[in-house]
Amino acid sequence: MNTIEELDQEFKDDPDYQQLSHEEKLRIISVMEKMMDMGMAAIYGDESEDQPESRFPCHKYVNQCRAKCCTFIFALTHEEVDKGIIAWNKDKPYFIARDKEDGYCPHLNRDTWQCNEWENRPLRCRRYDCRDDNIIEIDPADLVLADSVGG
Ligand code: SF4
Ligand code: SF4
Repeated sequence: MNTIEELDQEFKDDPDYQQLSHEEKLRIISVMEKMMDMGMAAIYGDESEDQPESRFPCHKYVNQCRAKCCTFIFALTHEEVDKGIIAWNKDKPYFIARDKEDGYCPHLNRDTWQCNEWENRPLRCRRYDCRDDNIIEIDPADLVLADSVGG
């Protein structure tokens, strides 16, 4: 956990989190980083049971978005860590690993923008739909089309 933006993304559906001030968020980040640095804390992702997988046809848009969502930082679930397939950040267990050079997930093929662990990708990756955010720049006309063809 490095920035307020990442914390906001992680807890965007948590109403209690929405009540926190900027200073309180900074304090949380500071405490979490200290605990992880000291080896006292590991964080597991907590995914809801009932959220469906996204059906958005990412393969049509990865040349536009350049798999921006594969730079997002989130914690893996207990089960995903136990499977031992998806790499996690050794300095901040159990957040998904990100390459220092470009910030992307180590499982992303940078030539094709495809996931090399598609069948084993985390729940968060399976469910994420960038149409819910304003952070991905995709032509709105394309999004309407995608919706009508199975997004
Ligand atoms: S969810 Fe959006 S940002 Fe992520 S790969 Fe698909 S189209 Fe790109
Ligand atoms: S596991 Fe695959 S889909 Fe998930 S962030 Fe990494 S490359 Fe992207």
